[in-house]
Amino acid sequence: MKASSPNLDRAHNILSSSIGADAHVDTLQRLLVDGVDLDAALSEGHVDYPRLLSGKVSLLVCALWTPTYYPREAAFARTIDLLAAARRFCAKSKHFKIAASVSAANKIIRDGSIAMVLSLEGCDALGRNLNLLERFREEGVSSIGLTHVSANDLSGSSTATSIHGGLSTLGRSAVIEMNRLGVLIDVSHASDEAVSDVLDVSTQPVVASHSCCRSLCESPRNLPDALIAAIASRGGVICIAAHAGFLHPEDIREITVPTIPEETKKDREALDERLRTEHIAALQAKDYRYATLEDLADHIEHAVRVAGIGHVALGSGVAGGNRGTTYHPGPNARIWLSEGKHTATLDRGVRGTGFGQIF
Ligand SMILES: [Zn+2]
Repeated sequence: MKASSPNLDRAHNILSSSIGADAHVDTLQRLLVDGVDLDAALSEGHVDYPRLLSGKVSLLVCALWTPTYYPREAAFARTIDLLAAARRFCAKSKHFKIAASVSAANKIIRDGSIAMVLSLEGCDALGRNLNLLERFREEGVSSIGLTHVSANDLSGSSTATSIHGGLSTLGRSAVIEMNRLGVLIDVSHASDEAVSDVLDVSTQPVVASHSCCRSLCESPRNLPDALIAAIASRGGVICIAAHAGFLHPEDIREITVPTIPEETKKDREALDERLRTEHIAALQAKDYRYATLEDLADHIEHAVRVAGIGHVALGSGVAGGNRGTTYHPGPNARIWLSEGKHTATLDRGVRGTGFGQIF
């Protein structure tokens, strides 16, 4: 989508008086695997400081993600490695700082830097030890999702056969503990039953950090209208993903849980090497053919109709293993704000509520 110049000016004006946030990126993989310098313009991937600056994105929620084929101990170690990579990078970065609270994020953004918010994507690294939730909170993790592409001890996954029928008893305890710790619960990837259970148990609003609308694209990773409405009615936010496989029916691919031969399961080096190879292949892969910026706009507009303007945001899901649409989610996605049918209300939503309100 090419924006006309008045619209581009308008988009920039909107963003000058608001905080641009992306509720889910996989950029930490790039720090750990590639050792990239996000302060510089990068030739690969989707996220770096110059692009965030041009798109006026100043709050970036970064996933601590480990593939489901990592056994628990290796997943825990890998998560600690990602945390260390984020900390090491931010210690020397001119532009990025880790934010573990709303006040810290506001100060970082006021000072002209990018607030990097840490989010644990799936609780596989915890096993059954809920005490680790507090440990991760102390390490600066502000948001936690219960599961990823396979079910675990806490929760069913949207892309795996149900084993608990939603949250397990331990999963319910995890939700209560996350409420106590002030951790934002992320329901993206959880099964429909698990999302309903989280909404029943949680006393705080929840976020779906990177999901789209199932009524427009029949992926199990997307949310049905009833759950979009339920998340919003409890004060939560649905962040629409820029992932082609969630946006356009032609781009839906089989989401399979990767397997790894038994004999290499305990070999951390073999696991890391496999992940590194997958990561590089994903970065170099061509985009999907079908999903466009208009599809992203359609999902945003639909979510706004179902949830209300104050409950919809963006969570691109780019910069890691995901291939996006044919745009990057910085300026172009923002430009759409000045072209959509809901411009006036989106202006207010972006400025006043949305993701920024519940983080
Ligand atoms: Zn994800």
